[in-house]
Amino acid sequence: MAIERTLSIIKPDATRRNLTGRIVAKFEEAGLRVVAQKRIRLTKAQAGQFYEVHKERPFYDELCEFMASGPVVVQVLEGEDAISRNREVMGATNPADAAPGTVRAEFAQSVGENSVHGSDAPETAAQEIAFFFSGLEIVG
Ligand code: ADP
Ligand code: MG
Repeated sequence: MAIERTLSIIKPDATRRNLTGRIVAKFEEAGLRVVAQKRIRLTKAQAGQFYEVHKERPFYDELCEFMASGPVVVQVLEGEDAISRNREVMGATNPADAAPGTVRAEFAQSVGENSVHGSDAPETAAQEIAFFFSGLEIVG
């Protein structure tokens, strides 16, 4: 198994409800290490750029509004198979389908306001990490 890095975002529905620490604890319990982290407020344009891949989806505008609606905590997580391991800890996109004990099963409010983002592949992880962090800000 390879040591990977993945981009994680704790979304506005979760920061609003003061859940940052409880979500980070789930990542750490799963063997993921936070090697970079900052709390920022995205503009709608920045959210739109980050989620450009979903531009044609019907929920794109709603998603960008939501991601700009409050602070987010962006993080780089590192560990063995970090990309898929993080996706496991997150749970399915729709909390109704998320396995018990996952972040989304416990905390998500809806398919849109689902508490966390995680990269889905090595290429997107590299792009998404570079979107938010410089090499100097990542300390493993
Ligand atoms: P994931 O975050 O699990 O990788 P996607 O990449 O498919 O899921 O979607 C990106 C984000 O867009 C989701 O996390 C969610 O916030 C939002 N989203 C996805 N599907 C819907 C939907 N049907 N209605 C509203 N928002 C959605
Ligand atoms: Mg996705």
